[in-house]
Amino acid sequence: MSYQIIDGKAISEQIKEECRKKVVAYKEKGIEITLAVIQVGADPASSVYVRNKKRACEFCGMNSLSYELPEETTQEELLTLIRKLNADDKVNGILVQLPLPKHIDEDLVIQTIDPKKDVDGFHPQSVGALCIGQPGFVSCTPAGIIELLKRSNIEIAGKECVVIGRSNIVGKPMALLLLRENGTVTVCHSRTKDLKEVTKRADILIVAIGKPKFITGDYVKEGAVVIDVGIHRNEDNKLCGDVDFESVAQKTSAITPVPGGVGPMTIAMLMHNCVESVELI
Ligand code: NAP
Repeated sequence: MSYQIIDGKAISEQIKEECRKKVVAYKEKGIEITLAVIQVGADPASSVYVRNKKRACEFCGMNSLSYELPEETTQEELLTLIRKLNADDKVNGILVQLPLPKHIDEDLVIQTIDPKKDVDGFHPQSVGALCIGQPGFVSCTPAGIIELLKRSNIEIAGKECVVIGRSNIVGKPMALLLLRENGTVTVCHSRTKDLKEVTKRADILIVAIGKPKFITGDYVKEGAVVIDVGIHRNEDNKLCGDVDFESVAQKTSAITPVPGGVGPMTIAMLMHNCVESVELI
């Protein structure tokens, strides 16, 4: 069966370009957009993400304020910085790169960010707004997946949508977004009985299980759309996803690759959220 490869790189470039144009239009009205990025410690993977976020800001014409704090930063010092940025009218968005060192309470940090500046969409108020269908910031990775589907002309309404994973940053908001788009949604997790039986019902299968190449062809219905959220490095240091692309792709009508699928969408949607934040400040 021939299948479409959903090109997340190209779609993310389109979204960033749209953001860049909106930023230009705001600048003409004298409005600047500023994202504050806070990193605690020097975890190499986090440093790569932070660098890419700053680069995307630069591309879109937004300002980025960078706070690279030492590993031993206390929780109170971090909360004080967040409160200062909350009160700063020039700052539109505040992003705290996760994970944080163990001595810092991540939930408390997220809850301290002003929901109007919560461009990651992790604040309980943002999650609650999504749940009851009110406007607010949406977690970037699942929001990016909806854009991938829409911009690839994949209909969600009325479809059997199965999400594997129920994390707060991917699985749960993903399920809520698919529901908002009128999909019929099932969420699977580690206690799901007979995972294969459930996934084989899916017209749209979203895989965020966090296990390399876990989903093989026998989990997938002929003609399904498969979105792979996973990012892993295999034994040859190459990137791979939660889906075994080789055995799954030929059964699908459309599939995201890793790399170049969901990954680039996360930063593009962060830029989108930063632009949206202007309306909320
Ligand atoms: P996570 O917090 O580890 O969640 C994994 C989920 O999978 C959990 O809900 C878990 O169930 C479920 N699960 C584990 N084993 C299972 C099994 N055998 N059968 C069914 N469900 C099972 O992971 P996450 O943060 O959501 O991330 C998922 C993947 O996406 C990771 O590979 C991560 O690196 C990647 N990711 C990518 C991006 C991106 O920008 N592309 C962003 C975020 C995450 P329980 O709840 O029962 O434990």
